[in-house]
Amino acid sequence: MTGLVWWEMSQTEAQPPTVREVIFKQASPILRRMFLLYLVNAVFLIVFAGAFSVLFPSFGGGLWTLGLEVYATLIAVYAGIVYLLGRSAMSVGLGRHCYALAVLGFGFGGFLDAWGGYGFLSLGYWLGQAGKESPSVCGRDGGEVVVFGPESLACPKCSRVVRVGYDIPRGWAKAGLAVFLLGVLVYVMNSSLGMFNTFYARYVGDVLLFTGLAFALTFYLQRMYFGGLVRIPSINQSGVREEGEVSGR
Ligand SMILES: [Zn+2]
Repeated sequence: MTGLVWWEMSQTEAQPPTVREVIFKQASPILRRMFLLYLVNAVFLIVFAGAFSVLFPSFGGGLWTLGLEVYATLIAVYAGIVYLLGRSAMSVGLGRHCYALAVLGFGFGGFLDAWGGYGFLSLGYWLGQAGKESPSVCGRDGGEVVVFGPESLACPKCSRVVRVGYDIPRGWAKAGLAVFLLGVLVYVMNSSLGMFNTFYARYVGDVLLFTGLAFALTFYLQRMYFGGLVRIPSINQSGVREEGEVSGR
């Protein structure tokens, strides 16, 4: 469908965009944002580790730091490739790569990548929904998502605007909050109680803590800022608009 045809159709609102089109449309900027998070994470790590090794040559990050730098760079490149693929043609198939990027981001054990990982997780879910024959479902209650306005999605069942890159199934959100509590527990055991305070225990603690933090923070932000309920008009009325309403804009 050409842009002109879409424009004319959107003007007359004879045919509003499909749920899949809206998911694809919302996915593009999210892909870019998550790629930038991975990129900034890699650049920060390399710059700070470099500066630290110059200032304190005796410490020396050693192989572990080098390994982390390579890891952060590789997943930033991977995210960049997926972003470019999505920019040329958004597709359902990119959902698998989003899931892979989410796991890789969580595995880094830092805040920026964990935050990016959460976005990729949500993207993976919604691209998967876009690929289904059956209607796309709200992660919270399984309600059938509808197009709301020109480029938004909403769930009539829970009367919420659904956002690609933020919304995930309820079970995943609960698991994420459990991971957060586990991460805090491991952190306290390591730092305050001095239990299992080994190098690898600290790494595992970081992975749990930052992964859980990304879930907890998103959960909080959604409650605080995205929590508003919307009234969704009947789908049958979507093509019919009052003249005054249109000219009033
Ligand atoms: Zn819902």
